[in-house]
Amino acid sequence: MKFDIVTIFPRMFEGPTREGILGRAIERRLVDLCVHDLREYTDDRHRTVDDVAYGGGPGMVLKPAPLFRAVDASREARGIPDAVILTSPQGRRFSQAEAGRLSGLGHVVLLCGRYEGVDERVRDHVATEELSIGDYVLTGGELPALVVLDAVVRLLPGVVGDEQSVEQDSFTRGLLDYPQYTRPAEFRGIAVPAVLLSGHHAEVRRWRKRQALERTIGRRPDLLATAQLDDEERAILREVQAARQEESDDGRD
Ligand code: SAH
Repeated sequence: MKFDIVTIFPRMFEGPTREGILGRAIERRLVDLCVHDLREYTDDRHRTVDDVAYGGGPGMVLKPAPLFRAVDASREARGIPDAVILTSPQGRRFSQAEAGRLSGLGHVVLLCGRYEGVDERVRDHVATEELSIGDYVLTGGELPALVVLDAVVRLLPGVVGDEQSVEQDSFTRGLLDYPQYTRPAEFRGIAVPAVLLSGHHAEVRRWRKRQALERTIGRRPDLLATAQLDDEERAILREVQAARQEESDDGRD
């Protein structure tokens, strides 16, 4: 999968794209990443990327020309992208489902805003979509671009070694993940749940499903409405809900 990222701070991508699973995916050429320095697409001596806002007010705005040119250049050198994404707190909320959708595309361009944002003409005529990584305002689109890149790349075939670990993650089926333990079986007097040491695969599976359901009900009940549950999970869910009902009834007595 091809990614082009347009930024005034290309060095912000150096560390994150060299380490870990993302770094290895790039090294193995499962991902072809090209980071473009927006200043390369300016045409004045000072390599100006920003200017004051028409109508006044504080802060600077990224000029349209360098961004238009950067996307044109990437199109010429690397082919027509399937999506040109403007990072923006005003965009549609990025989610695991969005990551899944993008992982099915062949070529994505990510535009990183700075200052007060970008000239609206970029949003209207260059970007094909706008994504926000959450309801807070960052100083620039670089961290959001890295978030999107990381979440999408780990869904590409062959990137995460054990395919199962992607399938079982929180959100993949709409449920939070179950608790994980590793050795030792007892640490500072705190024991790992006995069922995990029992060797009964069916019981371990049921315990994990129950934990995932209890966590989701307790922490993110909103997820349950759209979660994809199998028959066993639906049965466990009914038990969990009955138990919670009983508890709250007891509380009232
Ligand atoms: N004044 C703008 C915010 C500008 S923040 C507004 O209120 O909409 C500067 C840049 O950081 C934005 O152009 C965008 O590229 C990036 N950014 C900030 N917060 C973000 C978020 N939650 N999601 C995605 N991008 C964000």
